[in-house]
Amino acid sequence: MRTVLITSVCAAALVVSACGRSGAPEGRDSAAPAEFANVDEARLVAADEHPGQWMSHGRTYSEQRFSPLTQINTENVSQLGLTWYADFDTRRGQESTPLVIDGVVYVTTAWSKVYAFDAKTGKELWKYDPKVPGEWAVNACCDVVNRGVAAWKGKLYLGALDGRLIAIDAKTGKPVWEVYTIDRDKPYTITGAPRVAKGKVIIGQGGSEFHMRGYVSAYDAETGEMLWRWYIVPGNPADGFENPQMEMAAKTWGGEWWKTGGGGAPWDGITYDPETNLVYVGTGNGAPWPADIRSPGGGDHLFLASIVALDVDTGEYRWHYQMTPNESWDYDNTQQITVADLVIDGKKRHVVMQASKNGFFYVLDAKTGELISAQNFVPVNWAKGIDMKTGRPIVNPESKYTTERGFVALPSFAGAHSWHPMSYSPITGLVYIPAVNSSYPFVAAYEDDNPMGQKLSISFAKSAEMLRDPKTLRVNEGILLAWDPVQQKEVWRVSHGQGRGGGTLATAGGLVFQGTGGGLQTEGLSVPMHFSAYRADDGTKLWSFAAQTGVLAGPVSYEVDGEQYIAVVAGHRQGGDYYSPNYSRLLVFKLGGTAELPPPIEVPPRRLDPPAPFGTTAQLTVGEEKYSRFCSTCHGVDAQSGGMFPDLRYSPTLHSQEAFDAIVLGGALTENGMVSFARAITPEEAQAIRAFVTQRANEAKQREAAATQAAAPAQQGHGASN
Ligand code: CA
Repeated sequence: MRTVLITSVCAAALVVSACGRSGAPEGRDSAAPAEFANVDEARLVAADEHPGQWMSHGRTYSEQRFSPLTQINTENVSQLGLTWYADFDTRRGQESTPLVIDGVVYVTTAWSKVYAFDAKTGKELWKYDPKVPGEWAVNACCDVVNRGVAAWKGKLYLGALDGRLIAIDAKTGKPVWEVYTIDRDKPYTITGAPRVAKGKVIIGQGGSEFHMRGYVSAYDAETGEMLWRWYIVPGNPADGFENPQMEMAAKTWGGEWWKTGGGGAPWDGITYDPETNLVYVGTGNGAPWPADIRSPGGGDHLFLASIVALDVDTGEYRWHYQMTPNESWDYDNTQQITVADLVIDGKKRHVVMQASKNGFFYVLDAKTGELISAQNFVPVNWAKGIDMKTGRPIVNPESKYTTERGFVALPSFAGAHSWHPMSYSPITGLVYIPAVNSSYPFVAAYEDDNPMGQKLSISFAKSAEMLRDPKTLRVNEGILLAWDPVQQKEVWRVSHGQGRGGGTLATAGGLVFQGTGGGLQTEGLSVPMHFSAYRADDGTKLWSFAAQTGVLAGPVSYEVDGEQYIAVVAGHRQGGDYYSPNYSRLLVFKLGGTAELPPPIEVPPRRLDPPAPFGTTAQLTVGEEKYSRFCSTCHGVDAQSGGMFPDLRYSPTLHSQEAFDAIVLGGALTENGMVSFARAITPEEAQAIRAFVTQRANEAKQREAAATQAAAPAQQGHGASN
């Protein structure tokens, strides 16, 4: 562990202009609000007494994402208009929830950059770039995203993609200290927002898809000193166990699981509850994915796919509830954990709630972890339900796929609900879930020797083969779902078709806000990309704004000088085109707002222009195998990209092996996150991959031509018959 005091000089000399701001008296600047991120324990615990602020990730420690503001409501939301926007200098996925404290918006972007804006005018106050090395992108399973900062006593805390935890002076945007929360020789990443409680910054990380061992740590907010760390899964028993829980957990594993790390990385949902003094940590999936390959003969694989409750002061274990024992389908339980007081069977219960990736909505006792209820909120086929006597899922034996027998799972590995924040309105008593109903054909594979990139031990090639079979179940729908957590039943829904709904915000004005973006791999799919408001009680759409890009992040609401604002981060290409312009920005709305986005930039439609097919059958087989293994997780199954990363069938480099190799083997695009794969791919294999993609490009071009031809004679025929 290394603590680097970067700018203690700067921190001691805030009034000196070299530190970013002019020579105004300390804490006062006529052009900017008086206070900067001035939050502490008392203010955060009593966040509901500050309805105009958004001081922590889910607004209050309970992470309900509910705004008590009522100025914007069902009666007048039709008059909501853009009042300012701010462009980001980075594209790729934008998933950040802004903080808004004392009139300043603090927001992060892809590549872990941070911006501060005047919340009323949109004036940029400062910008901070931690300079994450471009090659770190290859360690991220799911893009170089960041979900936001935490605030505490004049500092902001940023988890950078490359595993650094960085304290930033909220007034100047200058770093104060930074620590490495990871072993820098290992492919860990941070995409989640840190949480701060009782002077401790709590942070996890991603890495299960890369065979890492997950853990959660707490750091002193002032100094960056590590205070406690709790591992999610046991390490090698020969090295001794860190605590009694690890010894207990080891009994639920088989084989030599520590060689693949086990997984469990807690990459998103962490919630502190002042009432119980506990931190609830949502833990990740197993590594590799199929449980029988990960740990032959093992049992539940604790503490994967669970919520674990730790004492905030000591990091000691208090309770856990495992949602998916012997997890095999990438069913992380890292989703948002919301604390609420519900009346269940006539009794007030202090509960934690989670809409799990595995498709079930869980209500647990916040103090003890006792299962109160669980019900599936989308169709589920890996389990037939939850046995309330044992608290365990009734697992469908068919769902354990092998190398021989695939299983089309509901939900898919994308999950019934992932990082997209949900919200809970204590007024309607409903939870608003960005839900997904989707399927995926899992087939196991003993391929765990991938020298770089993800090591999942599933066969993308065999999945692609199953997907080509029209008989294979294929479900793909994004849904805004209003869920009653007491009755455990759906109250209303809005379908987004094959698109995806983003994070939600519930307000005391009777509204639910949500954006939409693209979905999974679907050729030619065009999804309307809007930010909309719905009635919280029945789902009627009342207002919508064309955002020019996908809006998937969690919206927030705040108040400055008596006016209520709604803010959301936009920017997501999925379902769009990788080569489309960068529309990543922060959008801010108020009643009567009259700002307008610049008109969309016209781009010529991309054209399939591959060279003639080449390569022997043997080469094409190798090409498909290597593509599936090394390229498909980013560039799409079967060479068909969902738009998040370039669709290689359209790449001009298909015309030149030299140009192709310069990127794939030479690392010409490392700065963009596309590193050299020379460690994993030989020049012969690179040629085979180019042959395979060229073949797929030619097939797509033929489909396009056939569709054009089919359209043309139909018109002619119609004319002739008249
Ligand atoms: Ca995962």
